Amino acid sequence: MTDNQLLFHSTDSKRLVLIVEDEEINRNILNEILKDTYSLVFASNGAEAMDAVRRYFDRLSVVLLDLFLPDMNGLDILRWIKDNVHYAGIPVIILTSDRESEVDSLNLGAIDFIPKPYPLPKVIHARVRRTIEFCEDRDIIRSTERDHLTGLYNKEFFYTYSDQYDLYHRDQEMDAVVVDVNHFHIINERYGRKSADTVLCYIGRKLEELVEERGGIACRKEADTFFLYCPHMDDYEELFKDTDFDLGNGRNVRLRLRLGVYSDVDKSIEIERRFDRAKLASDTAKGGFAGTVVFYDRKLQESELFEEQLLEGFHTAIKEKQFLVYYQPKFDIRGEEPVLCSAEALVRWKHPELGLINPGIFIPLFENNGLIGELDCFVWSEAAAQLHSWKERFGFAVPISVNVSRVDMMDHDMMDSLQKLISEYGLSFRDLSLEITESAYTEDADRIIEEVKQLRDMGFTVEMDDFGSGYSSLNMISRLPIDALKLDMQFIRNAFSERRDTSMLEIVFEIAEMLGVPTIAEGVETEEQMLTLKVMGCDIVQGYYFSRPLPADEFEPFLIKRIGSGKQEDYIRDFAGHMEHGGGLPGEAHVKAGRHIRDHYIYMAIHDPLTGLFNRSGFDVVYRDTDRNNVAILILRAEMRDRPESPLSDRTIVRTTEILQKYFRSVDRICRWKQDEFVVIMSRINSSMKNRLLSKLARMNDESEEEDLVLTGGAAFSDPDDTGKDILSAAQEALEESLSENKGGCIFR
Ligand code: C2E
Ligand code: CA
Ligand code: CA
Repeated sequence: MTDNQLLFHSTDSKRLVLIVEDEEINRNILNEILKDTYSLVFASNGAEAMDAVRRYFDRLSVVLLDLFLPDMNGLDILRWIKDNVHYAGIPVIILTSDRESEVDSLNLGAIDFIPKPYPLPKVIHARVRRTIEFCEDRDIIRSTERDHLTGLYNKEFFYTYSDQYDLYHRDQEMDAVVVDVNHFHIINERYGRKSADTVLCYIGRKLEELVEERGGIACRKEADTFFLYCPHMDDYEELFKDTDFDLGNGRNVRLRLRLGVYSDVDKSIEIERRFDRAKLASDTAKGGFAGTVVFYDRKLQESELFEEQLLEGFHTAIKEKQFLVYYQPKFDIRGEEPVLCSAEALVRWKHPELGLINPGIFIPLFENNGLIGELDCFVWSEAAAQLHSWKERFGFAVPISVNVSRVDMMDHDMMDSLQKLISEYGLSFRDLSLEITESAYTEDADRIIEEVKQLRDMGFTVEMDDFGSGYSSLNMISRLPIDALKLDMQFIRNAFSERRDTSMLEIVFEIAEMLGVPTIAEGVETEEQMLTLKVMGCDIVQGYYFSRPLPADEFEPFLIKRIGSGKQEDYIRDFAGHMEHGGGLPGEAHVKAGRHIRDHYIYMAIHDPLTGLFNRSGFDVVYRDTDRNNVAILILRAEMRDRPESPLSDRTIVRTTEILQKYFRSVDRICRWKQDEFVVIMSRINSSMKNRLLSKLARMNDESEEEDLVLTGGAAFSDPDDTGKDILSAAQEALEESLSENKGGCIFR
């Protein structure tokens, strides 16, 4: 194109018009008519026309195209424009004296005609203006229905147009296809967002080409998920083979697409549901074993029906108490003998038609369908009622931990529900611990951390469940307000698989050490696993090795055994026998009582009725059987700050007990020794831990300040001189010294 032909006055406010016309006189006429309103580019033959389109396509408002050109037929240029995805949107007005070719040009996508010889200038003006306006409106509409990145439909318009497609292709068998990119987030992270976007554009183009060739429509659903609604095909595998994708700068990625296909859809179900089915198929491909194209088939349909059945049955199941809560014991393994310290409440569904169903099947379903909150409330309430009943019958129960789904964490009423349960069943906050799965923390860390803080401030114990399965950063972990880490079962599986790699476990124990929280291992099945974990420093163990989850009544023997724990059992039984006979129990009660009443009396004999702590007899029993090698005795005297002489009220004593229970580990045995004195038998401890004990006492005293209370301590360790000194009397002496010289502190012997 020569410069004198390019009369391109580029003032930005003017629309750009390309005039393709070989006769100079005609070019001049059009120039005179249009030059004041538009910026003009001229081409006098086909080659120049194509050049100009290539150069200005993203700015051209309209092309005026003469059909008779010296080197080409104008219709071929029209076809060339309309066949190219980038140029196809440019409107073309045909300049012709040949009425015959009108039909051909319309078929090829021309938008209007200007006859030759040219009509009045105002007619030409009107046609050009109207065309531009029409197309610009069209582009605006287009941009609202399109995804900006790929140019495919967005999901809002996609469903509407899919329905319309059906309307005009009633007998066509159609497929609903979901296309996902495997590991897209890795591409994103490794190569950056811009490169990842080029991958998405590439897939967009591929889909666009496919629908152009075979019909149908495509959309970008979100991020790296695309939908395709197209006439039935059989060659998806072939069409979507893995490809190497060039990201530029010599970087190559292997692009793996994952397809879920709902083939030959049932058009009587809603379009969204058709894609739910395709998505279901694509999700099963996620594991990577099923191949890259997975079809929605009978099996998936059955599982869909099964899920529907579960969802439909939910409310009746709640009403009719078809959900059962099982209890699986947790054992503290720090001492010589494992000691029952807690239980996890795990739900099961006793379905009238399907039998006993495990939570792994229905919990994820209920989480996705907004039902989990109701189910969890039910489970919490059952657990609270059970605790209440155990306390009534045995005077004793271990804390129960309940699962809190991440969905519950988003629910504002959750804290209220929990608090109500505590008061309704006369429990203390320590009776319930909450297992919150790690992935909940990674979703909206700040918010969850805030909520967990509140729960802990209320007094609940919070365990982080499935630790290690999510992607918490170390930074986040160190801000975590939690009381225990419960390791994901996979750590145990890996550590005891054939390769026996315990290195990951060790790291987790180190993290727990750093956070200063105990660790719980679940899924422990063998003695070997239990012992290995013990050596590695694990505190609490749960798993088939000790017991499967059990219905409440089958769990009770664990509780009863704990009441008369381990080796002490015989001793306590004798003791209780003595109580029963010597104590002159009413004969009638004796007959009725059976085992539970008997257990109740054992309990009463060794516990303080006000606080539920061991009393002096309980202390004797426990102390007699304590391993004396790594033990400390701490005696604490509680006094009113300004009235040391006056006796403490029951309320103050209970409050002191709560504070003690909060600060000591479950292996530490707390006893109410005298009216206002408490003894703590601490095992697995040595004198190097003095400072920890001191800071613990300081924190307890901070907390007691509200009550105007002060705690003073005296302590003795079995080491460093293992001379078999009587550490109990040593601790008593130390306490006397503290009381006269060091109120609110602790002296060690
Ligand atoms: P989870 O919280 O990680 O619970 C531990 C699962 O491990 C339980 O499966 C338990 O029965 C199982 N398990 C315990 N010891 C062993 C063992 O030694 N070997 C093996 N192989 N498995 C063991 P379950 O009862 O099927 O529960 C599965 C999941 O369902 C739970 O995983 C929890 O995430 C969820 N779940 C259970 N009950 C509830 C509930 O009431 N509410 C909520 N939101 N989720 C619940
Ligand atoms: Ca759990
Ligand atoms: Ca778990």
